[in-house]
Amino acid sequence: MDILCFSVLYCISISLFSLAEVCKSVDVLSSSEPIRDGDTLVSAGEKFQLGFFSPGNSSNRFLAIWYHNIPEKTIVWVANGDNPVTDSSGVLRIGNEGKLVLVNQAERVLWSSNNMNTSSQSVVAQLLDSGNLVLKDDSENVSGNYLWQSFDRPSNTLLAGMKLGWDLRMGLDRHMTSWKSAEDPSTGDFTYGVDLGGIIPQLVIRKGRVKYFRSGPWNGIQFSGVPLTPNLIFIPKFVNNSQEVYYTFNNFNESTITRSVLNASGNHQRYLWNEETQEWTVIYMLPHDACDVYGNCGPNTMCIVGDFQICNCMTGYQPKSQAEWDSLVWSSGCVSKNPFNCSKGEGFKRLEGVKIPDLLQFTMNTSMSLKECEFECFKNCSCRAYANIDATGGGSGCLLWFGDLLDVRKLSVHANQDLYIRVSASDLDSVNSKWKEWVAVAISVAFVVLLVVLYFCIIWKRKKHAQGTGITFDLPAEDENSLQLLIFDRVTILQATNNFCDSNKLGEGGFGPVYKGQLPNGQEIAVKRLSEDSRQGLNEFKNEVMLIAKLQHRNLVKLLGCCIEEERMLIYEYMPNGSLDSFIFGKTRENSLVWRMRFDIIVGIARGLLYLHRDSRLRIIHRDLKASNVLLDNEMNPKISDFGMARVFGGDISLVKTKRIVGTYGYMAPEYAIDGLFSTKSDIFSFGVLLLEIISGKRNREFNHPDHCFNLLGHAWMLWLERKASDFIDPQLPNSFDLSEVVKCIHVGLLCVQRRPDDRPNMSTVLLMLDSESASLPQPKQPGFYIERSSEHTNVEMSGRNCNSNEITITLLEGR
Ligand code: AMP
Repeated sequence: MDILCFSVLYCISISLFSLAEVCKSVDVLSSSEPIRDGDTLVSAGEKFQLGFFSPGNSSNRFLAIWYHNIPEKTIVWVANGDNPVTDSSGVLRIGNEGKLVLVNQAERVLWSSNNMNTSSQSVVAQLLDSGNLVLKDDSENVSGNYLWQSFDRPSNTLLAGMKLGWDLRMGLDRHMTSWKSAEDPSTGDFTYGVDLGGIIPQLVIRKGRVKYFRSGPWNGIQFSGVPLTPNLIFIPKFVNNSQEVYYTFNNFNESTITRSVLNASGNHQRYLWNEETQEWTVIYMLPHDACDVYGNCGPNTMCIVGDFQICNCMTGYQPKSQAEWDSLVWSSGCVSKNPFNCSKGEGFKRLEGVKIPDLLQFTMNTSMSLKECEFECFKNCSCRAYANIDATGGGSGCLLWFGDLLDVRKLSVHANQDLYIRVSASDLDSVNSKWKEWVAVAISVAFVVLLVVLYFCIIWKRKKHAQGTGITFDLPAEDENSLQLLIFDRVTILQATNNFCDSNKLGEGGFGPVYKGQLPNGQEIAVKRLSEDSRQGLNEFKNEVMLIAKLQHRNLVKLLGCCIEEERMLIYEYMPNGSLDSFIFGKTRENSLVWRMRFDIIVGIARGLLYLHRDSRLRIIHRDLKASNVLLDNEMNPKISDFGMARVFGGDISLVKTKRIVGTYGYMAPEYAIDGLFSTKSDIFSFGVLLLEIISGKRNREFNHPDHCFNLLGHAWMLWLERKASDFIDPQLPNSFDLSEVVKCIHVGLLCVQRRPDDRPNMSTVLLMLDSESASLPQPKQPGFYIERSSEHTNVEMSGRNCNSNEITITLLEGR
């Protein structure tokens, strides 16, 4: 019995032991232990796996590397794409000459690593956690000294850390090669690599020898033809020195997995692994549109996506064949209308934000300034165009093109790259005269509009006089065109508001109560009764009256007049829906605004603010933009109100410093709250806060979260970094909304509340952003005042230091 028990125990322990052996991941292949079909190597951190696989329905076997932990088998490298093993007899081993060899049953070598022969007996292969299969001499303890590595022979995939490009010392060109099809890893039609192109490298996809796409040269900041925004997914890098020229990238952090693939149709796609949905998402693709396809419009053209005709001859050029052009066949491109012969008056036209022409016939000088470059091009009659090489630090270096200008496109995102093309005297004249024509037309239109407006003003004023209140009022001549404004007598206002009856009270702001009233002609008004102890003194009063009287915009509340008898009052048009705060905070799901309405309100406020900052005759900084200062008319159009604290500027507004900091905490930009520095960018900060409040339905100031001590901005920022922006959305928001649009708005909001004023966009950019795809927006950096939670009016960032117990770390992101 004892013996029986012992034998059973012995058997169990032996089998457990051997099971443990099988389960142990092995990442090294030694010369004594080959890998057969069915065996695999798994990298030490279990990131990648090497073994045999069959794509799709094929029964062919390929030696490949794939992600170990991603359920959908994703192949990142194939050894014998063109020489499959036709059965399961494949064996990978280290051969006598110290090379990796893949053989079939008949011992035929189907693939081998192409390293030099070595007599060393201690050669091993190891699969690293980067996905790199390396061959090394185990007796040499020098890390990174490989006899061979799969990263030097990419298949159709570039992983983080792989280099795409040249090792000039070894003459090694690492490029990606497409598969024949998604189910056939044999060599396809396309390659993707670095084209040294003489001196300035570009990334180029080729079909055979023919170029299919080029990135444009690296201009010190980015590839000039594919402006990429800084992002939280991957960090690209380009190295260009005497030893190496290559592109590479790193994943943004450990948990982000991306790969880039050259697919069978020649498109370079970047994939991101989505842990939640357990699938890959394509985050961008090159070529991205028709204008990205190399030379799509033929020579001397400008390709513009979105134009009715995407191909346009450059100024001074005409279609080579009008008949072809009329049938929308562009390939023969354009030829110059007038021969360039250095004749008098020839000059250059600037094309902004373009992908510069391919480097076919060109010269380069790295030390020249743009002015010298222009002169150089001007001197040489066959020079067709010039540009800076390096866009950093405002631009330097000189590129000169001779002959045709090929593959030029307008970039949708401004790409720091301008091109100057040579135009003849007559074309230069026509450029100028066109411009002059435009100015003349604009002036005449403006003049006619002015006459019409004047005419209506006179009629309107006469009508108002006839209506009864009867008096107009010349405001003090702060402005040389002193304003005439309607003065209401006190009795009219008392009657209109039923003696300021409590039931007429609409609300109370910082300067006093506001009452609803009705004038004898039936018009509804809102009367702001400025309390004596209100902070608004005579100056503020004059300020607000002067300001609003001059401003006319559908997103600004209209001032009808004022009253100065006994007390000061401002009379506004009445806004039946009151202020925005009552709609976004403390509402129920039933009366919660739908997304479309919230979006229109955001856009309306942005337009109103743009008008204040840029489009009105004056330049105005509001200084107190907040939810209760946005009123809603009967159609829920937003109107900015309360200009008591606004500051007016004649021309450009630069940063201004004040000792008297006015405004509302929670909406104030850090540089304003702490140092009293205000600019349009401090208004933009307030706009960003308001935008985030509208989306979340929560006040920045009163925001509380059980898990952390950030305010609403910090909360938004944290969710953004964790890619959970959708958790930020107001739970009361009725369901039907376009998630990507809401996320885009959060993105814009975060850009507006960035800590550094210079990083915040201006209002015209904000409006453009609200209109564009979120993919093209820059990544936001850390917001200002994101830790604030206390209601103390102190330096709120200090209060965040008490929150050390919180384990969430907010990473600061700086753009590349
Ligand atoms: P204010 O002093 O401008 O902040 O106004 C205080 C409150 O009065 C606002 O939050 C609104 O609820 C209300 N109010 C102010 N102006 C108007 C108006 N023109 N029409 C309707 N309600 C108004």
